Amino acid sequence: MGASDPLVGVPSSGGGREEKSVLPVKGSPKGHPFMIEPPHPGGVSMGVSRRNLLTGAAAATAVVAFDPTRQSWLGHAAAQGCPGAIRIPRLDGELLFDAASLDVGATDFGHLVERRPAALLKPGSVRDVQRAVRFANRHGISVAMRGQAHSCFGQAQALCGIVIDTRTLDAIHSIDASGAWVDAGVKWSTLTLATLAEGLTPRVLTDYLELSVGGVLSVGGIGGAMNRYGFVADNVEALEVVTGDGCLHTLRHGDLFRSVPGSLGQFALIVRAKVSLDPAPTQARVYDLVYTDLSQFIADQRTVANDERFDFLEGQLIANDSGGFDFLLQAAMWFDAGSEPDDAALLAGLSPVATTTTDQPYFDWLNRVAAAEGFLRSIGLWETPHPWSDLFLDDRSVESYMRWTLDRLSPADLGFGLALLYPFKRRATRARYVATPNSRLVWAFDLLRFPFPDPAVIQALLDQNRELYEEAARLGGKRYPVSALDFDQADWIEQYGPRWRSFASRKRRYDPRNVLTPGQHVFGS
Ligand SMILES: Cc1cc2nc3c(=O)[nH]c(=O)nc-3n(C[C@H](O)[C@H](O)[C@H](O)COP(=O)(O)OP(=O)(O)OC[C@H]3O[C@@H](n4cnc5c(N)ncnc54)[C@H](O)[C@@H]3O)c2cc1C
Repeated sequence: MGASDPLVGVPSSGGGREEKSVLPVKGSPKGHPFMIEPPHPGGVSMGVSRRNLLTGAAAATAVVAFDPTRQSWLGHAAAQGCPGAIRIPRLDGELLFDAASLDVGATDFGHLVERRPAALLKPGSVRDVQRAVRFANRHGISVAMRGQAHSCFGQAQALCGIVIDTRTLDAIHSIDASGAWVDAGVKWSTLTLATLAEGLTPRVLTDYLELSVGGVLSVGGIGGAMNRYGFVADNVEALEVVTGDGCLHTLRHGDLFRSVPGSLGQFALIVRAKVSLDPAPTQARVYDLVYTDLSQFIADQRTVANDERFDFLEGQLIANDSGGFDFLLQAAMWFDAGSEPDDAALLAGLSPVATTTTDQPYFDWLNRVAAAEGFLRSIGLWETPHPWSDLFLDDRSVESYMRWTLDRLSPADLGFGLALLYPFKRRATRARYVATPNSRLVWAFDLLRFPFPDPAVIQALLDQNRELYEEAARLGGKRYPVSALDFDQADWIEQYGPRWRSFASRKRRYDPRNVLTPGQHVFGS
């Protein structure tokens, strides 16, 4: 597959993508830089401009039909005068057109891009998702699920399309040792508390629990238990999904079951999942091992990743007094009172300069980011731009890449945030479309930046993201696609490498009109 034939027959629901630039928009909240994408000139514009969206706000409840010829929503009177008008399907939930709802659909945690949808659906049922997708498919309108919108660069947005806000799909249907059946909009914090009440726990969790089940399963989901169990998305027993034609599928095996987890909402929207569960421990013993030498840190990380001695394994760059970074290997063991871990055996053969060991309740450890969130909210940096970088590095070049990176990266580039760096075994992962380097160990390298919201600073950090990605990709690395990185189709072809052809072929099969999840820009929309 050459770059000259990137679409391999997949139509673009939105036409060509506009050239974008980060612009401080006058009047934008707190003067943040917003990237505004105008409607696609050659694609489905739906006749929606900011002005008629606001008009729509005034008449929010009066929208009853859709004019496929002019690609616009119609009120009662206009619908009567339009012979081709198609009535909006009856819904159990609400389809909203008011400015406040469209603002919700146009924002995410990154606060870097803003693409307004034409409508926001708060589904009242799974059938509503089917109705919306069927409608969108018939009329060539793009549609995106929005979980908690904690991705950073418009991934859950749909310019002039329909955004489905999954927060109303929030039921936990059952929990037992065979798994937990949950709606896509349930947050991992809610699910984990509910499973712990039954003495059970999800096997792999993200560091931050206020993310949606559907969102995490769609991007992959990384966390400290994946060295043993793979991505969060590798730990589902069954899925209910809606494909691009609006059909509902219950999956326990087969091609779609193996393709959807981690495939960025490109083939189907997840409406329910049965999440794998294990017996829950009550306590976590956390080991913080500090290193001043990168080589030793990497060597010890490799040792403990390879022999899988810990239940949980992560690592960080930590600012030191000389303006650079030291390194933290952070590991944990789960246990119950009376069966404490053997510290000497766990720390044998490792050479940190300092070690701290602490015990805490299991859920407190899982929920550790909550305190950081509280602090960041208190200093006003939670709702500001977040130019995060998330990469998977090839183990064979991780040390040279990190030395190159440390020459360019300073603690100031993180603001009040942090940098993660830790390995996991590639063979523990199964999600076929979460692209990772083909080394035996893969390193997650994440810059979770909370910088001062100055447009020039933000632009410089976005530029740095690109530079870090380019060098990582040159060495076989991949992007974890929740980050703030402007990715075009050539980048996606490089990202998927030999799997691009099968990815595009499944797109044609499961979403032939290319209506699902345009915000990832995989298929040019
Ligand atoms: C503080 C913080 C900590 C984080 N920690 C981690 C971490 O430890 N590990 C990690 O992996 N990530 C982490 N993330 C990154 C990331 O934002 C989430 O993994 C991701 O966004 C999923 O959660 P969400 O509900 O916010 O999804 P969204 O951002 O809403 O959606 C992500 C993508 O999936 C699509 N999507 C959403 N729901 C569905 C669905 N039901 N069906 C199909 N497609 C869907 C969206 O359209 C979008 O393209 C963190 C983010 C923040 C802000």
